[in-house]
Amino acid sequence: MKVVVFTGVGEVEVRSEPSPTPGPDQVIVDVGACGVCTFERRLFAGDKQWYPVAPGHEAAGVISAVGSAVEGLSGSPVVGDRVTMDLLTRCGTCGPCRRGKSALCRYRQGRVLSDGTVSFGGFADRIAIDAKSVYPVGDAPVHHAAMGEPLACCIHSLRQGGFQPGDRVAIIGGGFMGRLHLALARLGGASSIGVIDISQERLDLASDFGASWTATPDEALEIGGKQDVVFVTAMAGVDLAVEMADLGGTVVLYSAFDNALPATVGADKSHREEVAIVGAFSQEPEDWQLGSSYIRSGILHDDLEALVTARYDFDTVTDALTLVTTEPTFRVFVEPPTPDD
Ligand SMILES: [Zn+2]
Ligand SMILES: [Zn+2]
Repeated sequence: MKVVVFTGVGEVEVRSEPSPTPGPDQVIVDVGACGVCTFERRLFAGDKQWYPVAPGHEAAGVISAVGSAVEGLSGSPVVGDRVTMDLLTRCGTCGPCRRGKSALCRYRQGRVLSDGTVSFGGFADRIAIDAKSVYPVGDAPVHHAAMGEPLACCIHSLRQGGFQPGDRVAIIGGGFMGRLHLALARLGGASSIGVIDISQERLDLASDFGASWTATPDEALEIGGKQDVVFVTAMAGVDLAVEMADLGGTVVLYSAFDNALPATVGADKSHREEVAIVGAFSQEPEDWQLGSSYIRSGILHDDLEALVTARYDFDTVTDALTLVTTEPTFRVFVEPPTPDD
């Protein structure tokens, strides 16, 4: 099998590895597509220096083999199923896992290649994965299925924000994650959805995909007014989000932020107005369950298709990574060759 390994700043190589066989509780997935996320962009650009490592955590593919303990089990995936994959492991026994917060598992570890290099598994043509971590998506396009991970993250974000049908929602940031929040809030019956960004092009696109109003940060409060849930999907805008939260409102910090950036709400405001700031990190299995069902149903087809910026194969993976580090993109996908061993 083939796997893309990041070996230094701006450097990647395609390695050959022994093809995996499934453990009793596992399946083998022949990967069809893997999205390039912030983590891979930062590794390639050198903003995060961790080499060698085999990243790729937003992948989907088709099951080519099934382990002995899951074969024939009712509800278990079967050979030929197209699936989206939860590639990060959850130990199941640490404190957060036992409290139903496996997104915060203390021992997430992924997998390793034959020489010990840490591998997330997505930028490879084949992977062995626990059957419980794959979610069938019917005949949905494979690059839609590869958006299962970010979609699950955004579903988790809506749950963290206590989102309910009828809520007024504002989303700070009209990029890839902002657009997934927009699609989910629309689907979930928000009474209004505002998207806030500094890019007019992104605001126009948000309008095309269901935003009730759009605004730059300076005019957001005037145009959109107070909100029930405000999602911050950009690297800034926390103060604006707090200002926009109405009585009983919630601010969800979805992005990764600079360590030094404070997120504050006055103690008395929090008391009297019940305004809360909550974080949203990663996802839980139930978020995958819902996200994969949305992908399978096709209900988000147009939203997801509009977020496909470009598709590259392994031979041009450097071009894919160069594109995401030099230009604004929604999602760029890497598509491995058909496994030959
Ligand atoms: Zn991601
Ligand atoms: Zn755990």
